Amino acid sequence: MLDLSDPQTALLLSVLRNAAALSRAVRAETKPAGLTKGDLSPVTVGDFAIQAMVARRLHDAFPAIPLVGEEDSVDLRTDNGAAVLEAVTWHVSRFEADATPEAVCRWIEMGGSDTGDRFWTLDPIDGTKGFLRGGQYVVALALVENGVAVLGGLACPGLDPDGTPGAGAVVLARRGEGAWSAPLDNPGAAWQRLGVSACTNPAQARMMRSFEAGHTNPGQIDDIARAMGITAEPVPMDSQAKYAALAAGCAEIQLRLLSPTRLDYKEKIWDHAAGALVLEEAGGRVTDLYGAPLDFTRGRMLTANTGLLATNGAVHDAALAAVRQVLEKV
Ligand code: AMP
Ligand code: MG
Repeated sequence: MLDLSDPQTALLLSVLRNAAALSRAVRAETKPAGLTKGDLSPVTVGDFAIQAMVARRLHDAFPAIPLVGEEDSVDLRTDNGAAVLEAVTWHVSRFEADATPEAVCRWIEMGGSDTGDRFWTLDPIDGTKGFLRGGQYVVALALVENGVAVLGGLACPGLDPDGTPGAGAVVLARRGEGAWSAPLDNPGAAWQRLGVSACTNPAQARMMRSFEAGHTNPGQIDDIARAMGITAEPVPMDSQAKYAALAAGCAEIQLRLLSPTRLDYKEKIWDHAAGALVLEEAGGRVTDLYGAPLDFTRGRMLTANTGLLATNGAVHDAALAAVRQVLEKV
């Protein structure tokens, strides 16, 4: 098991558990307040509040390590955002007693750092659309050193530790030391080591894809499945919960194709750093659609990569060949 007395690991675990509790408090509201971002994606009180709380705690404990977080406070500082900021401040104050609207904005802004030799990267709510719909979502946090995620964790409020839909799991991984999961709400429970499925037959592989059709190309995913001889339908799931499910052996392939309406889309580092580490430490393999390793040295986006292929390892080359075959036809 990982050494939970290591200060970075202990902090990561503690902020993930608290962030999950905060997210549940927001989701219990009938209609969580929120805003629409410039790219038209939704952002809720929960995304802002979690980034504020986590940024504050990371900065207090490790002031020299910058944070690259998904959210910013620009919209919260406008008249339009005032009511959302008030709701965010209330949620943060349940964890950070000295929260004020101004402090909350400043804490969120701590996530605006550039990447460098060493940084944290946070997706406060990955799968916001799933979060709003009642689907899967995760809180994802990773520590990246010299372009390599060395420590990472996912709070998965809608999964069990075995990767199936359930009452909540937390997954941790440290480079070279494995991926581990435990119930989210029982800090005393035993940790279990995650391992990918032993499936080696591409035709038997179970595929996962984004729930949101607009985040991928479902037609091409079906073509790839067919090229591999897979007859089962791809299972849709929101967020990096897909990485956790693969790491636990519940599926063999996760694919992100480019949406035909967003052929220029570049993946964000906080959408993959923690999840990819978890899967690799469980024995899986993660590359882009052309087999290139994810390059976390390019800033906030994976500008050197296109799409994503994550597998149990054994079926990776077969999946890459099928992807190549389908993409060559376009
Ligand atoms: P998923 O749950 O697999 O759909 O992944 C959620 C993530 O998809 C979000 O955190 C966004 O960063 C990302 N996303 C948003 N728009 C797109 C898009 N057009 N193509 C690919 N990913 C997207
Ligand atoms: Mg995300």
